[in-house]
Amino acid sequence: MLTAGIDIGSTGAKTVLFEDGKILSYAIIPTGGDSVETSEKVMAEALINGDRELEDVEYIVSTGYGRVLVPFAQRNITEISCHAKGALFEYPSIRTILDIGGQDCKVIRCNDKGKIVNFVLNEKCAAGTGRFLDVIARTLEIPIEEIGERSMDLEDEPPVINSTCVLYAKTEVLKLIRHGVHKNEILAGIFEAQASRIYSLIHKAGFAEDFMITGGVAKNIGMVKKMEEKVHSKAIIAEEPQIIGALGAALFASELCAKANQ
Ligand code: ADP
Repeated sequence: MLTAGIDIGSTGAKTVLFEDGKILSYAIIPTGGDSVETSEKVMAEALINGDRELEDVEYIVSTGYGRVLVPFAQRNITEISCHAKGALFEYPSIRTILDIGGQDCKVIRCNDKGKIVNFVLNEKCAAGTGRFLDVIARTLEIPIEEIGERSMDLEDEPPVINSTCVLYAKTEVLKLIRHGVHKNEILAGIFEAQASRIYSLIHKAGFAEDFMITGGVAKNIGMVKKMEEKVHSKAIIAEEPQIIGALGAALFASELCAKANQ
């Protein structure tokens, strides 16, 4: 049985094709202005990667902020459920999932039966999100893929960054550059402030091991290390942490398809 999960996030669109109990292929592309077009593109790329046609896919579930706009999905399911499903499929021992995406940051707590027992969401402002880090990376003129490593290569104490609002933080960063503070130290200061902010969400949700970080920001090793320091626990990171929501959607699609075929 071939099923698919498609996650239309604020920043990245992801598709996972799932067959015979494992991931067949996946694709990640930037979310464009038109969600319908984005969903068609990301699905087409995953199909090419898996050497399949759309007609071969028996059931499709969509998730993410653009989930209602996927024309070829039979069902849509919330990101919270899909992230928990995908994370627990990869690592059944996970009890706390921190998903840091482009526009929001969420903490999901699961029990030993894999049931969601609590979740806390930060969606009101950019603090503690990928978008915040994207703005800082652009301000520092460093590619997003490099900011994590750069933040760990330090010669001096990082500055204390007080602003949690992205616009004020950008101004603070420009001022630090003018004062000759090295970009790596600035990044470390930014990550420390962001990690503290995110930790308050984890604290609210209640922390328990094992701990997993998902979403595109889980690829940022500097942020991962800061979060590990805050919770005093090693984070589990999937091979491709950005597709965990789409994987969960594909798993729901497999279950729904099996039910429909009964
Ligand atoms: P959403 O689902 O909300 O669209 P994603 O989980 O796709 O968000 O994450 C998008 C964010 O991930 C970007 O804003 C960016 O900060 C971060 N990101 C993506 N790829 C990388 C990478 N290779 N290294 C560091 N950060 C990354």
